[in-house]
Amino acid sequence: MFCTKCGAQIQEGANYCSRCGTPVAATEVSAGEAAQCTSGMATASLVCGIAGFFLGPLLSVLAIIFSIIALPHFGNNPALKGKGMAIAGLVLGMIGLAWIVFVIWTILVFLGFLVI
Ligand SMILES: [Zn+2]
Repeated sequence: MFCTKCGAQIQEGANYCSRCGTPVAATEVSAGEAAQCTSGMATASLVCGIAGFFLGPLLSVLAIIFSIIALPHFGNNPALKGKGMAIAGLVLGMIGLAWIVFVIWTILVFLGFLVI
């Protein structure tokens, strides 16, 4: 098969074009742009979901938003890859938010004891 972006021949089983780096999965789908966008959203969701644990609730919220944007596309196109990442991002985002709420609640309780 050939890369739809640069036209270079791609080896069977390769995940990326060796010349321009375009993902093969995206070149196989007719709506290549949408596929890349969706898998990018899924990746961003997963990354934000993990980063939210360390960097704060804003990233956890972003992870949930990204996965909500990305997930409907997977229902329309089963060939799209990254659904697992989007779901993982959604779950991690929710756990991250719950964790932040727990930390804030703990701090408030602690401060409450100090005031008393
Ligand atoms: Zn290429």
